[in-house]
Amino acid sequence: MENTAEKKKIVLSAIQPTGTPTLGNYLGALKNWKDMSEGEYNCLYAVADLHSLTVRPEPADLRRRTLEMYAILLALGIDPEKNIVFIQSHVPQHAQLSWLLSCCTQFGEAARMTQFKDKSEKHPENVNVGLFTYPILMAADILLYQTDFVPIGEDQKQHLEIARDIAERFNTVYGNTFKLPEPFIGKIGARVKSLQDPSQKMSKSDPNPKGYISMLDDDNIIVKKIKSAVTDSEAKVRYAEGKDGINNLMGIYSCCTGKTYDEIEKEFDGKGYGDFKSAVAEAVVEELRPFKTEFNRLMGDKAYLTECAKNGAEKASYFAQRTLSKAMKKTGLFQL
Ligand code: ATP
Ligand code: MG
Repeated sequence: MENTAEKKKIVLSAIQPTGTPTLGNYLGALKNWKDMSEGEYNCLYAVADLHSLTVRPEPADLRRRTLEMYAILLALGIDPEKNIVFIQSHVPQHAQLSWLLSCCTQFGEAARMTQFKDKSEKHPENVNVGLFTYPILMAADILLYQTDFVPIGEDQKQHLEIARDIAERFNTVYGNTFKLPEPFIGKIGARVKSLQDPSQKMSKSDPNPKGYISMLDDDNIIVKKIKSAVTDSEAKVRYAEGKDGINNLMGIYSCCTGKTYDEIEKEFDGKGYGDFKSAVAEAVVEELRPFKTEFNRLMGDKAYLTECAKNGAEKASYFAQRTLSKAMKKTGLFQL
């Protein structure tokens, strides 16, 4: 962020510490985070602990998973000196801006969010207002840093659109304050599906662990899960409508190896799903291996992680406060 004079584009993204990230999070988002962090952009990456309170995690679990998620980001190879890697609740401006933005969001537009509908159907026992206002907090996360690009999977597209709508409304009512962010959606990994129900997205909060591959699963578990992935009875490796399971595995294989669908079809021409699944499993294991080694190393150095999180929060706060002060002033809140 020190390089704003160079007008590098700003990238922000966040992930909730609701569980160990899945291969879906990795291919749909985290892999892009790492790629984008390597020079061309000014990147801010957050562990969205405030967001995860919507599902009321056990306090001890939340505490442990937040640090774990922070270590995961560093283990991906994101350099905390060159980028800003922080924990959302350490930067109080997120919650503060969220309130200002709430007052610029219509009830009806928030009620249209499909994630709210999905999650409230899945957890009818805890449909809290936080779940409803989640996209407003997410808008605050993004708008606070005058973000240009937000790397996300397809599932977050609607939330980014509402963030843009809110920003536009605020800018119209109070004068230009926020930059309008653009989504940055990686191509193939954007929509990794559940291994057990390929009509659904792979989710780390899926109660059935067979549906997802966690980034920290042991190699033999990864192999087992991929081998038991739901496919179809055609026994031909090709990308086609109605072959969601195979399409999904092809997408995963393509992301891990860089091969195109055509190349994959040729590679497995005349071979069965067994061979294909073994190849996919091996590619995934190899893709995750360096990450896992680095994660284990970092988890042994909590002092370092805490120090990085502290620095990250300080750097993020500085930029966040600039935008928050501007927004507060524009709304007419009395300034001291
Ligand atoms: P939860 O079930 O708790 O909402 P999640 O797996 O959806 O967990 P999030 O923390 O909500 O994870 O999202 C983190 C990032 O991962 C977002 O950018 C989101 O777009 C991306 N993402 C989530 N699931 C997938 C998926 N199946 N395929 C591709 N990208 C995904
Ligand atoms: Mg999600």
